[in-house]
Amino acid sequence: MTTIYSARWVVPVTAAPIEDGAVAVEGQRIVGVGPHAEIVARFPEFKVESFGDAIILPGLVNIHTHLELTAMRGYLENEETDFFAWLRKLTRARLELMTPDDIRVSATWGACEAVRAGITCVGDASDSAMMSMQALRDVGLRGVVYQESFGPDARLAQENFEKLKTKVQELRAVESDVLRAGVSPHAPYTVCGPQLELIADFARAEGLPLMMHAAESAAEEAFVREGCGAFAEGLARRAIEWNAPRVSTIQYLKQVGVLDVQPLLAHCIRVDDRDIETLRDTGAKIAHCPKSNAKLGHGRAPFARFLEAGIAVGFGSDSVASNNTCDILEEARFATLMARAGGGFVPGADALRVATFGRGLSEGALADLAVVSLIGVHQLPSYDPIATLIFASSGRDVILTVVAGREVYRNGHVSNVDEDRLRARMLEISHRLHG
Ligand SMILES: [Zn+2]
Repeated sequence: MTTIYSARWVVPVTAAPIEDGAVAVEGQRIVGVGPHAEIVARFPEFKVESFGDAIILPGLVNIHTHLELTAMRGYLENEETDFFAWLRKLTRARLELMTPDDIRVSATWGACEAVRAGITCVGDASDSAMMSMQALRDVGLRGVVYQESFGPDARLAQENFEKLKTKVQELRAVESDVLRAGVSPHAPYTVCGPQLELIADFARAEGLPLMMHAAESAAEEAFVREGCGAFAEGLARRAIEWNAPRVSTIQYLKQVGVLDVQPLLAHCIRVDDRDIETLRDTGAKIAHCPKSNAKLGHGRAPFARFLEAGIAVGFGSDSVASNNTCDILEEARFATLMARAGGGFVPGADALRVATFGRGLSEGALADLAVVSLIGVHQLPSYDPIATLIFASSGRDVILTVVAGREVYRNGHVSNVDEDRLRARMLEISHRLHG
């Protein structure tokens, strides 16, 4: 397909905004970015789509999600003061109340929400990664799907690791141009040290991306540093031995080899100066999830300091069970305001770079883009397109989403799936969870 998308503003992110700009797309790639007149003259045979008062920007990246949990939006509000109880109710509902098809529907609904919000790429961690992979494929999203692994009992480390290997093998068989498989040892309190070592070695040997929750809650910190608290008590009740490493989560992950594979670490709230240095020196990436962190009362990650240290940071909505929306523009605004409230000044342009995880609109780049309408009452007037994007817009203002040159969302309609059928199924699932 050969198309020129044009609008009042093109915000390439990796270059200055262009007024009356245009982006030419051929197949899966961008072949030109510049002033409208120049692009139309360069590609006279291309179809021209003009969006008028709107901004064209690179597709947004939601680097940490659990789309399979979309049916649990608002389901855990009563457990939010007790993270252990929150996780227990979530896990029970997922394993005992939802069928495999429910999981797939839930993930597909989440993928629809993502493309409606201009998200073109997700990092999705799932216990049923194959279902997530299918959901992303059905909707047309780009992404890395991380197969989760659990196992706090060192005696079962090898057995749990073998299960993970089998699932990853199946996932790799369905990888595509836009979908990759990865591994996710869930968290320090659900995966024992020997299993973390096995998974890190496997990721290194196979060149697999690795994602893990790290330094998130007070309960996790008590567990890793002191060997006490709700997680330690939970293991003791199951007669599972746990010898706390008595260091921070980040230093522990360094000891067990997880930091050797440049992992993506979600949350990183409870980190000190030494941890930030370690993250920088090892090339770890951070999924900053400020809304989820705040909603569950876990605290505030030092976002401005991550950026100062030069660590690669992306925004994650986390699941809508703890957010309750999958909207990266909203996440970017919240992150920026929270950082400033804490005394660290993050410019809007930096937040936008994080929201696209460093991707830009440039010749030769992948044709992943979003169009944000500027006709909303809440956006007028607009003097600076970046300020309008970060501080006045949300995913609800998106009117077009394109992944690898293919339109996946336009003007209220997700292109590739039957949203009415999914809506009916989501209601059915929610009644069952509620009942
Ligand atoms: Zn998460």
